[in-house]
Amino acid sequence: MSAAPTSTSKPAVLAVMKLPPFYIEKLQQSFELLDRLHQTDPQAFAQAAPRIRAVTGGGESLVDRALLAQLPALEMVSIMGVGYDKVDVAAALERRIPVTHTPDVLNDEVADTAIGLMLSVAKKLPQADRYVRDGRWETQGAMPLSRKMSGARLGIVGLGRIGQAIAKRAEAFGMSIAYTSRNRKDVKHAYFPSAAELAAQVDFLVVITPGGAATRHMINAEVLRALGPQGYLVNVARGSVVDEAALIDALQKGVIAGAALDVFENEPRVPQALRELDNVVLAPHIGSATVQTRHAMAALAFDNLAAHFAGQPLLTPVPECR
Ligand code: NAP
Repeated sequence: MSAAPTSTSKPAVLAVMKLPPFYIEKLQQSFELLDRLHQTDPQAFAQAAPRIRAVTGGGESLVDRALLAQLPALEMVSIMGVGYDKVDVAAALERRIPVTHTPDVLNDEVADTAIGLMLSVAKKLPQADRYVRDGRWETQGAMPLSRKMSGARLGIVGLGRIGQAIAKRAEAFGMSIAYTSRNRKDVKHAYFPSAAELAAQVDFLVVITPGGAATRHMINAEVLRALGPQGYLVNVARGSVVDEAALIDALQKGVIAGAALDVFENEPRVPQALRELDNVVLAPHIGSATVQTRHAMAALAFDNLAAHFAGQPLLTPVPECR
């Protein structure tokens, strides 16, 4: 038996983002947790790096080739999030390092957020709140009329796990549903081969694809023109999927009616031009951000780590690692 103290006999795990306290507590019970050491203390990180056996972080965490190269003992990357577009999976696979994520446990939450944003931008709910608080109800009377969402035409860009949860909810609002994705699905909804063709046929265009190079600026000036002056864009995917400069231009010129955005190209920085527009609803990347769902995501991220170190099959490896 080794006489090494408990803290060093536990596998070392590097956290690459600020994790929620309930995930940290769970990790600390089984692992030696090094909390963002690569950012806070490069010298201590250089010392610890040779014994780091796993990395954990969130859907926005950067795990690039340069970081991987500094971790010679790395065995796995566990992402607490379904998106993993900032993880260099190809570089990890070169060393047979698997990457896991947390699909499905957040479908309901992100779909709820998408519906909430759609209702907010159509019915101008944040603007209505400001109208009352600013005293304008008393001085200016009733607010201008908003747009009905029930019964409208919805287009979903990316009919995957979350996209299908959005479709299910939209059906309860009596919306007609159409979609685009890489492959046509065995569903009753109308399929369009491109985002532009879909946008031309709908009132609300909800974007819920992965981020990364393949979807970068998929929603561009042409798609926004197709959506038209009565159309609304809702982005709950990744900021990179929408050409933000083209979107600002379209919103300023009335090319589209409005937008509700949970994600941005350069988070947490949001362009001043967007903040100044009254036909947008802005949210700070809260798609999955409830206590209940973040607990479920943390539990799955932890269970993937635990499975690896127990020599068990990983629960939810990303598609490239299956
Ligand atoms: P998923 O099940 O893999 O679905 C992704 C969908 O996007 C699929 O329909 C896929 O088409 C489509 N797609 C992928 N690449 C495409 C491309 N190049 N062109 C057109 N369509 C493409 O993923 P999910 O679990 O629903 O999650 C989707 C994304 O939502 C995540 O990757 C993440 O970026 C984002 N997200 C955001 C939040 C938030 O807080 N705002 C929270 C969670 C997730 P095929 O099925 O034909 O391959």
